Amino acid sequence: MITLDQPLTVKELKSDVKPIWCPGCGDYGVMNSTLKAIADLQLDPAYVVIASGIGCSGRFPAFVSSYGFHGVHGRVLPLATGIKLANPELTVLAVGGDGDAFSIGAGHLPHAVRRNVDITYIVMDNEIYGLTKGQPSPTSPFGMEKKVSPYGTVDAPINPIAMVLAYGGTFVARGFSSKPQELAELIKRGIQHAGFAFIQVISPCVTFNDTYAFYKAGTAPLPPDHDPSDRMAAMRLAMQTDVHYLGVFYEEVRPPHHAQVQRIQQKAGADFSLAEVIERFRR
Ligand code: SF4
Ligand code: MG
Repeated sequence: MITLDQPLTVKELKSDVKPIWCPGCGDYGVMNSTLKAIADLQLDPAYVVIASGIGCSGRFPAFVSSYGFHGVHGRVLPLATGIKLANPELTVLAVGGDGDAFSIGAGHLPHAVRRNVDITYIVMDNEIYGLTKGQPSPTSPFGMEKKVSPYGTVDAPINPIAMVLAYGGTFVARGFSSKPQELAELIKRGIQHAGFAFIQVISPCVTFNDTYAFYKAGTAPLPPDHDPSDRMAAMRLAMQTDVHYLGVFYEEVRPPHHAQVQRIQQKAGADFSLAEVIERFRR
């Protein structure tokens, strides 16, 4: 992480582009918590890249005074992986929604996890496709009735925390946009984690799926005696349906992807860096 002597404020980290999310959208809270994490860690925004896919949350990079890349639908993880591999000095954040992450982009998730790519993946989960006016997403509850699904959904929702734990994730956490302090702490820990940090954030869509009341009543911090090095204990807590726990379910130290690539380069006697390879392809 490349840091500044003088930290920037959250206000200074915002760009001149004003967010166009609906008033009350959870994504505002996620953005403010992310900027607070960047400010608290004194990160130099010249070495921060925020990559996104498509969806309401995909607009995120435009609102921040750092580098950004608004990619195509579901491809945020290959994009972020390439950025990190090309320049491991960068702090790379990948952001997106539940449709982007768990539907069209779902095939990328297990591979980013097993490679332990050193990025922080923040999934703003509103259990619906907000940008396209409220179709059910992979995390919509069974039987959810909306304008475009008037007879109720027929598919069971996936469980993102259990899924990433099963993939072998090295940092697995859940936050809530209505708990900005706690969320900023989770994002800070995710950025500091040397490997793939997965953070599912409950981020309600006030326009098409307002779940604020449900989650304000239905969330709780992880039990204080939970051991985050115990994957099976984390899995049991993730599978609980009567309460949605918030906090770090699981964390372990494992060499990140770019370190493994550098190790292979050394082993193969490569006398050039990855940046030089990219430069050669450019010519
Ligand atoms: Fe947020 Fe929903 Fe509005 Fe999109 S449609 S900006 S997710 S409230
Ligand atoms: Mg969504």
